[in-house]
Amino acid sequence: MTTPTNSSSGLGNRNAELPQEQWVENPETGAKVVKVGDMEFPKRKVWMHTFGCQMNYHDTERVLSHLENLNFEQTKDQQEADLILFNTCAIRDLSNQKFYSKLGDTKHIKKKNPDVKIGVGGCVAQTEGKELVKKYKHLDFSFGTDVIDTINELVYRSYAGEDPFAINTWDRSQNFSIETKITNGSPQAFVNIIKGCNKCCSYCIVPFTRGKEKSRLQKEVVEDVRRLVEYQGVQEVTLLGQNVNSYGKDNGESLAGLITELDQINGLELIRYTTSHPYDVTDELVQVHGEAKKLSRHLHLPVQSGSNTVLQRMLREYTVDHYMGLVEKLRKAKPDIVLSTDIIAGFVNETEEEHQATLDLLDRAQYDFIYSYAYSQRNKTRASRWEDSLTDDIRGARLREIQAYQAKIQEKIRKELVGQTFTVLVDGHGFMGGEKKWKGRTNCMRIVHFLPEHQEHDLQWHWVEVEVTAATAFSCQGKLKKVWGRRMPEQASRY
Ligand code: SF4
Repeated sequence: MTTPTNSSSGLGNRNAELPQEQWVENPETGAKVVKVGDMEFPKRKVWMHTFGCQMNYHDTERVLSHLENLNFEQTKDQQEADLILFNTCAIRDLSNQKFYSKLGDTKHIKKKNPDVKIGVGGCVAQTEGKELVKKYKHLDFSFGTDVIDTINELVYRSYAGEDPFAINTWDRSQNFSIETKITNGSPQAFVNIIKGCNKCCSYCIVPFTRGKEKSRLQKEVVEDVRRLVEYQGVQEVTLLGQNVNSYGKDNGESLAGLITELDQINGLELIRYTTSHPYDVTDELVQVHGEAKKLSRHLHLPVQSGSNTVLQRMLREYTVDHYMGLVEKLRKAKPDIVLSTDIIAGFVNETEEEHQATLDLLDRAQYDFIYSYAYSQRNKTRASRWEDSLTDDIRGARLREIQAYQAKIQEKIRKELVGQTFTVLVDGHGFMGGEKKWKGRTNCMRIVHFLPEHQEHDLQWHWVEVEVTAATAFSCQGKLKKVWGRRMPEQASRY
């Protein structure tokens, strides 16, 4: 027999008719289980793998946080998991292939242990969920991007014995309202402020997997961040959205206004945001870059190509001149701002001349780093319907040329950092040449590796000052100068 102890809703947009989770205690063993209706959920383990962007990692945090209310704890060992989940990405072909291969591997796990439940969420589940469930007989359920907050209902239905099912409905509610969930106890949090995308870039599948834009209300986001800072020790937030610059348009609000409000929160040290669309960067936002004390000195501003004709085919809605004008304005408002970008090499029918225009843009923009990819065709997109004269070999060669070209620019920029001191928030460690080195990111997103004073010194989530002693195009090595501790004191420099 079990006794109810407390109840928790724990779910976002759930179906109100489904029973709530209730924590109950077995008086004989003292073990805590969760009851949902008549069904008991004993302690179980969930293994979850995430593909793709920060939005997906953020969604995974939400899923895991909800599952805690169903008595699941995380495991890193897939073999011991009771529930195996994938959060998928449809943007890049490579992560798609990796997902299918990992999903195929789970067939053997299910064969060994038929009680294990397997679910697939995210962008692939949104567009191909039904086909997945039909094709992969060992799959128990799939769930699209807009139903992640109902994960506990889906897991409940699966444990209740329902046949494999796929859910990819869109959330029809007028407002986008959520509370940020964090599970890892870190002082860094991703805060989703807008979902969906109203653009229609010809190569991108996001509008099909994430739907139309919907922003959270500014007062809700500010309250959310205030709570994270006050009750969960968060010091750094990254505001997330597919096109974060579009935030608030549906409610007469703006990203600039939101950042200005967040800048006032005591105890919050750093504000970042991603991903930007250059068309929607307003003068007001540029001004905020110059004024907000806590806004990161780094901005990721995806350009995709340095050729106007390619940008036109990509339906990016801006020209190279417009983009470079923005870069100029940003550098005027914040002279030491650090910029990075995304580049697609070998877009459909890209000519050699168009490719060279991208190299020219790298020269002009002087990015601190870039993410570059060879174009890969995604089903359903406009570009996938066009005849394409480019071969994979040409794409690969252009990608390598772009990367080598940028590496030289980067090396020059990084060399100038030697001798400068930065404040970093330590977020992990690794072993280099047999020595344990800690690492953290500067305010401007550069990763610096450094040796602790003593090898046993635990610096995780400490603010420290590090002097850069050596730099290559891709990494900075530093020397620890000062340990500030887990809170950044007033006198510490934000840089
Ligand atoms: S702005 Fe373009 S590339 Fe970015 S998510 Fe929207 S459609 Fe995709």
